[in-house]
Amino acid sequence: MAGRNKLVAGNWKMNGLRADGLALARALVRCAAAGRPRCDLLVCPPATLLWEIGGVLAGSGIALGGQDCHPAAGGAHTGDLSAEMLADAGCRYVILGHSERRQEHGESDALVRAKIAAAWRAGLTAILCVGETREQRAAGDADAVVVGQLAGSLPPGADADRLVVAYEPVWAIGTGLVPTPEDIAAMHAGLRARLPAATRILYGGSVNPGNAAAILALPEVDGALVGGASLKADQFWAIAACCG
Ligand code: PEP
Repeated sequence: MAGRNKLVAGNWKMNGLRADGLALARALVRCAAAGRPRCDLLVCPPATLLWEIGGVLAGSGIALGGQDCHPAAGGAHTGDLSAEMLADAGCRYVILGHSERRQEHGESDALVRAKIAAAWRAGLTAILCVGETREQRAAGDADAVVVGQLAGSLPPGADADRLVVAYEPVWAIGTGLVPTPEDIAAMHAGLRARLPAATRILYGGSVNPGNAAAILALPEVDGALVGGASLKADQFWAIAACCG
């Protein structure tokens, strides 16, 4: 859609030792050198690889992002990373509120809101993930859950330059299941009505080279957040190529 360049983002999650991550990043750089798709590109490797992968990606046009951050700028928070540290490592984006963080680490909307504020403080663009569980959809609560997560997780002052929203139905993540195009479009339209006009809204959940064209063709979809398929350079690139 005019005014919103699509974004295709790879969430590597807790995958990749140094050799794997570097090989994947180098393969993406080779793809970029052969011809860039008409979208913005982002990879979010594990924190251990950020510095080195940032060096590999430099000049390729592929941005670097983190997968989480702590609300505080620094201090006694063993095992955590601040948004400032991510920015210092070369990140421009950070994924926040991913369902795996909400489920495995008990992250509340209030905590996600504080993390987004931290990301903005450090000059990062936050990718806020929202999405309903299978049970919530079956109960007819999907819209209310997703709208509630958005309202609860967004600090005041959101603008399209520093916020991306990813609609990721929990039941579609890593399962091979994907909502119907009508369901994706309806959820995105509901989110859009509550966001600054130019905010990019990504779809995430089992996006692969076989279904990406249909998903990315939906006018309300401004890109994709890709998990499993982002670990293979050819698959990630094939998805990005669907942007044109
Ligand atoms: C994700 O975890 O953000 C995701 C979309 O994963 P997958 O593509 O593997 O479903």
